[in-house]
Amino acid sequence: MHRSLSSLTQRIERALDERLIPAIHRDVEPVHVEAAHLPGEPVPAGEGLALTYTPFAVGQPWGPAWSTTWFRFTGEVPARMRGHRVELLVDLGFDNAGPGFRSEGLAYTADGAPIKGIEPRTAYVPIARRAAGGERVEVYVEAAANPRFTGAVSPFGDRETAPDVPLYRLDRAELAVLDEEVHGLVLDVRVLHELARELAEADPRRHQIHRALELMLDEIDVADVSGGARAARSRLAGVLAAPAVPSAHRVFAVGHAHIDSAWLWPVRETIRKCSRTFSNVVALADEYPELVFACSSAQQYAWLRQHHPQVYRRVTEKVASGQFVPVGGMWVESDTNMPGGEAMVRQFTQGKRFFAAEFGVEPREVWLPDSFGYSAALPQLARLAGFRWFLSQKMSWNTTNRFPHHTFWWEGIDGSRVFTHFPPADTYSSELSGRELAYGVRNFAEHGRATRSLLPFGYGDGGGGPTREMLETARRVADLEGSPRVSVRAPAEFFAEAEREYPDAPVWSGEMYLEYHRGTYTSQSAMKRGNRRTEHLLREAELWCATAALRAGHPYPYDELDAIWQETLLLQFHDILPGSSIAWVHREARQTYARLAERLEALIDPALTALTGAGSVPLTGNAAPHERAGVPALALGVQRAVEAPPVSVRTGPDGTVLDNGLLRVRVGADGTVSAIRDLVAGRDVLRAGAAANVLQVHPDTPNKFDAWDIDEFYRNRRRDLTGVTKLMVDTADPRQARVRVTRHDGDSVYVQTVSLAAGERVLRFETEVDWQQRETLLKVAFPIDVHAAHSSSEIQFGHVRRPTHTNTSWDAARFEICAHRWLHVGEPGYGVALVNDGTYGHDVTRDPPGDGLGALGTTVRLSLLRGPRYPDPDTDRGTHRFGYALVCGAEILDAVREGYRSNLPPRERTGANPVAPLVEVADPAVVVESVKLADDRGGDVVVRLYEALGGRARTRLTVSFDLARVEVCDLLERQNAEIAALAPISVDGRTVDLALTPFQVVTLRLTPAGR
Ligand SMILES: [Zn+2]
Repeated sequence: MHRSLSSLTQRIERALDERLIPAIHRDVEPVHVEAAHLPGEPVPAGEGLALTYTPFAVGQPWGPAWSTTWFRFTGEVPARMRGHRVELLVDLGFDNAGPGFRSEGLAYTADGAPIKGIEPRTAYVPIARRAAGGERVEVYVEAAANPRFTGAVSPFGDRETAPDVPLYRLDRAELAVLDEEVHGLVLDVRVLHELARELAEADPRRHQIHRALELMLDEIDVADVSGGARAARSRLAGVLAAPAVPSAHRVFAVGHAHIDSAWLWPVRETIRKCSRTFSNVVALADEYPELVFACSSAQQYAWLRQHHPQVYRRVTEKVASGQFVPVGGMWVESDTNMPGGEAMVRQFTQGKRFFAAEFGVEPREVWLPDSFGYSAALPQLARLAGFRWFLSQKMSWNTTNRFPHHTFWWEGIDGSRVFTHFPPADTYSSELSGRELAYGVRNFAEHGRATRSLLPFGYGDGGGGPTREMLETARRVADLEGSPRVSVRAPAEFFAEAEREYPDAPVWSGEMYLEYHRGTYTSQSAMKRGNRRTEHLLREAELWCATAALRAGHPYPYDELDAIWQETLLLQFHDILPGSSIAWVHREARQTYARLAERLEALIDPALTALTGAGSVPLTGNAAPHERAGVPALALGVQRAVEAPPVSVRTGPDGTVLDNGLLRVRVGADGTVSAIRDLVAGRDVLRAGAAANVLQVHPDTPNKFDAWDIDEFYRNRRRDLTGVTKLMVDTADPRQARVRVTRHDGDSVYVQTVSLAAGERVLRFETEVDWQQRETLLKVAFPIDVHAAHSSSEIQFGHVRRPTHTNTSWDAARFEICAHRWLHVGEPGYGVALVNDGTYGHDVTRDPPGDGLGALGTTVRLSLLRGPRYPDPDTDRGTHRFGYALVCGAEILDAVREGYRSNLPPRERTGANPVAPLVEVADPAVVVESVKLADDRGGDVVVRLYEALGGRARTRLTVSFDLARVEVCDLLERQNAEIAALAPISVDGRTVDLALTPFQVVTLRLTPAGR
């Protein structure tokens, strides 16, 4: 038997491309085209339809970046199309390229009702299922000229910099008959051809498929593809009918569209992307009853409700029928490295509350396919929010280590576990291609123990979601020899079955560190600072408003707090807070953060006034969870005078020495801190001969993904900024001495202030930078004289420990790490914490002893700024301010305390009387994260606290009002016996005794008496 496989492959592919696919639509009839151009922001459909339309021709260019063109297509279905399925085909200038990331449109009826999206792989508008002939056609398309980004430096990232030239050309606008037989043939051929390609050379099945394809090709008459399509299909019927083998892997295919809530487009465009994709989905769901579409992000539903109520109504119907499935239950698919504890909670509670109120559903699976690493706090928070399962796939992007599992239990810092699945096809936007299906089977790590995996299919980000071709493919691979068995199902069905068959799945403990995108802890510095500041203002607003509500009957601003939380949560989306969006997105986010701060201050101020009353007593508001200068935690009180001696300052030839009796700090002539003597511990804090607060610059030119990545080779080159333009010693305040250093380097200016206050073992720093560098990483270094085996970094409701060594490839890959307010290094008996008020990126390295003999030192560095050029060419250009502090002789508890303090500056007011806290906690290791009124607006007080050290705690909570009832609830503030059993409490009058396990988060619901 002579064979030429390559010749058959070529024959099939050429027939597909040149004969079969072009024959899917036939018998075309042009339509009349008119257009109205809208250079500015989009308008609602009613206004779009009413614009003044002028004639427009196919082939004509349209669309400067970010503009909208409304097209009107009119015509009549010709009589010759009678009895056929007729569609309007619109090509907005797709160039046969990828499925999304370019121009897109939403088609409307003449009444302004959305029909479906127009995207490269779904570029049709249904006109008649079975035409009568003579139907009048009037279709409007709201076409968005979203520019493409290629990865090069681009001016298109903001409409202020985008050139005013048309980007697209209307390539097609005509009526045509959809030849369903040819369409079916194309899908048959594709499925079989792709399947055969994945089968082994020696597999008889492969040859049987090839033989059938050959016979099919012989059947085709190139002059009349349509006429021969039925006969051609009959040649394939036999191989398509062969059932899957009994051991075939099972794929639960889930319709999906990963729509980034902002990225290479602004938020306003995401709103339109959602309307296009979701209207596609509901239209497709009518035609394919088996379609199940999983959609996360309450925010995207909320946008649809507000901006496209007609589509939303149809979505609501499909949710009720089970075809449109809300998943994830988060407000957005957020980053999980940087959001603080309470914000992470609110991602879940705001999302779940929305889904419950709108649809009466409660998702049980967290849905985060694309976030850049996963915090070890998540398993507990997910379980406390009523989730049981977790879906992701991003760990397949690791550049160093292969994550060992696809189905496993993920265990968090507190011991809680979620049943987790990573789709082994390594994608969240599959086309259900033969290659993806076969790869998913080959790649699945759990064979022999588990038989199921999940596969999200559908084009994201403006590709339009699942297509009819995907659903047709799914039908063909439902039970097909050589293929995994594919069924379109809801994620919850997958998880329930997967957990049932694999209860003893392996365990991954601790964070899921993504070995990629390490620059996202630092890029777009204003996002980091804005997020940190807003989170703490929210804490204050809720605390003071709840206190004022109970103490002074001050109205609790439920709606305003919800609105501010929702905006804050949106900005934590996995391309906004990480700094990986275009300039437009970050410009708007900076404005939003500024506005949110004003709105929060406008809540805090009247609440404090209501609490303190009018008077002249100087009062300090302490929103932190620990006492400060005599003012109790969560209270307003009179500060105790500091009894410590003043700070002495001496300037000599070897620099300036600041001494407060606890620390003696030397600032050298080059403005760096050359020595710190801890007078309490009687030891040096810094490595001998090494300086601290040293600004270090590295070239920062990652191989790919500029805003996302710091590549390890950045370390190969480093320059320390030690040139001094000006050095000033400020001794005006005997309670606080300051040294201020100004440096110029290139076009950038750096002003560093070192300050030592009386009575503190804390050295504080403020660094202001006018940053003009590009592709440069700015770090600030602290070479500490401790022999630290690991560093401890704050995460949500606790901390993670990471080795400082690089023994394994896993340790080595963590060369840049994320920490919240503090990072601690130490050895038994002595430790140091580096605390910050608005950055996240760190690295920790070991300093070898002099000649390789002796103890190690540990250098801790904060990452301050980068200058990536893609996607925002001007990332971080401009002025920035960073506050950080070195806490000497610090245990973890000191780091926790100083972390809150540095982010919650005291509020100085005058008033009539001090205000006692609503609740007091006896054990400083038990930290109050949140005090608020209950979301159900019934007036109960909700207190969320956690054990912060990773140990057991027994403590007493003293409540300053009479209690009718105290309950331990879930994060949604609901009764839950299982959760209550984990935190036994005993209540006696106004005291609540409770016991906590390591890193346990407890939500208490306190019902005031007499209400
Ligand atoms: Zn994404």
